[in-house]
Amino acid sequence: MIKNIKLAARKPGQKTTIIDVNGIRVGEGLVIIAGPCSVETERQTIETAIAVKNAGAHMLRGGAFKPRTSPYAFQGLGLKGLKILDKARKETGLPVVTEVVDTRDVSWVGEYADVLQIGARNMQNFSLLREAGKSGKPILLKRGMYSTLEEWLNCAEYILAEGNPNVILCERGIRTFETYTRNTLDLSMIPAVKHESHLPILIDPSHGTGILSFIEPMSLAAVAAGANGLEIEVHIDPASALSDKDQQLTVPMFESLMNKLRKLRAFMDEPEMSSALQENMDTPAGKSAVQENSAQNTAPPLPGAFSEAVD
Ligand code: PEP
Ligand code: MN
Repeated sequence: MIKNIKLAARKPGQKTTIIDVNGIRVGEGLVIIAGPCSVETERQTIETAIAVKNAGAHMLRGGAFKPRTSPYAFQGLGLKGLKILDKARKETGLPVVTEVVDTRDVSWVGEYADVLQIGARNMQNFSLLREAGKSGKPILLKRGMYSTLEEWLNCAEYILAEGNPNVILCERGIRTFETYTRNTLDLSMIPAVKHESHLPILIDPSHGTGILSFIEPMSLAAVAAGANGLEIEVHIDPASALSDKDQQLTVPMFESLMNKLRKLRAFMDEPEMSSALQENMDTPAGKSAVQENSAQNTAPPLPGAFSEAVD
């Protein structure tokens, strides 16, 4: 067990925490967050939102504040972008996930967002984490690209310690010597987080690979490994995108991925497969503390938000 993790640690017998976002239960079943990297225009955002909703997504993502490597790159529309997201939510009913990059913006961005995202580059921005904790909003905390699991869980601890229990973790790839992919998507964090923490774990295969054709196989692998959800970039016209144009799925690609995810979930939900998978996913080899408590530690039943929303 990792030392000094108190509130984020999975205690013996403790179940995965379910974070309720306007009725979408993250930590139960499979939750799909989809939408553009950046909010660019009202039309782009709303058309994408309608398309991902129709394909079965549960929440809409879209950045109004973009943490960009270059100060000359598109930085996001700010307040205008948040207002567009608000319209998209009204249009589709999808809860909105959007990033906050500045401590001073947490409370007012929280008025537009259903989930505040803290990005990889800000994972260890401790004052931002504290403000996020004080906001009481659900927080999607991405893993820093150079961070260990221990560091990541300590960051979750900062939010939890402010009295906000609503923390969702998201693995988005780390920097390794391998440069073929944008990042190295560390899917071993799925069982590792399940072993150490009761917080739900999502996977972002878009930033995790940066390569369009890799997003589908890594999404399927993440779900097979027990991820509680996925965050995926989708754009109605990726070629015209103002950020991350090479990794945003088109709508037909997203629809095709959702169909495969549905089939994979149906297969995983078959009683024999479901019990075999729960053994594997909730009792990682050599993790005796969890093994002893496997009955109580099993993940919530496989059907859930995903099946409910698509059926
Ligand atoms: C994002 O999801 O918009 C983003 C910037 O991701 P990350 O923080 O993982 O790079
Ligand atoms: Mn992006």
